Amino acid sequence: MQRLFKYKLLYLWEIGDRMTKLTSLAESSRGCELCPLAKQGRTQVVFGDGNEDADIMFIGEGPGFYEDKQGKPFVGAAGKLLTQLLESIGLRREDVYITNVVKCRPPQNRDPKPEEIEVCTNEYLFMQVQEIEPKIVATLGRFASAVILGLKDVSMGRVHGQKFKKDGYFVVPIYHPAAALHSRANLEPLAEDFKKLKEYLEEKSEVRAEVSQEVEVEQMGLF
Ligand code: SF4
Repeated sequence: MQRLFKYKLLYLWEIGDRMTKLTSLAESSRGCELCPLAKQGRTQVVFGDGNEDADIMFIGEGPGFYEDKQGKPFVGAAGKLLTQLLESIGLRREDVYITNVVKCRPPQNRDPKPEEIEVCTNEYLFMQVQEIEPKIVATLGRFASAVILGLKDVSMGRVHGQKFKKDGYFVVPIYHPAAALHSRANLEPLAEDFKKLKEYLEEKSEVRAEVSQEVEVEQMGLF
């Protein structure tokens, strides 16, 4: 009984420590000028939002118009669809953590450049993943999937809904909600991807313990 109490205390202390680190990282990102995106019309840094003890983390490409204005990731139409898809598998937005590869809006929504990605991911994103320790990192769309898998490019048609081992968690590339808004034909595969996420989350043992059964990213021959 005493041991159980001790473990509970340690667990709560660990969560508290993690939150403190994320909060101070978010604070330090506010005035960030480490890459050229700082001076290319951003309104504010969009650090991330959600449960800092989440089992699943969603990563998109970068803030868009509404995200830049409101300071939160995925708040426009794509964000609304993301919320609906989460609800379809029994999750609320507050249950997950959502962020982007880069934290400042690229002008005209262009793709972030390699040097911007390198600085921002090393300074913030990889720290976020390290502190949150998710079981699953769901990458939204081709761009974020390639960055997180460490590949030059990926074919979403080949990789979506699959899980790939990476540093103690699994990366699951899924279609970007904006793709389903652009064409309704993309909605069904996206909904299927979410069902897969639910399956992966419900797998009985710790996802991290099942790595031996998984195919390494390098073995996939994705190039
Ligand atoms: S994109 Fe990232 S690294 Fe670049 S200025 Fe914004 S917060 Fe800093």
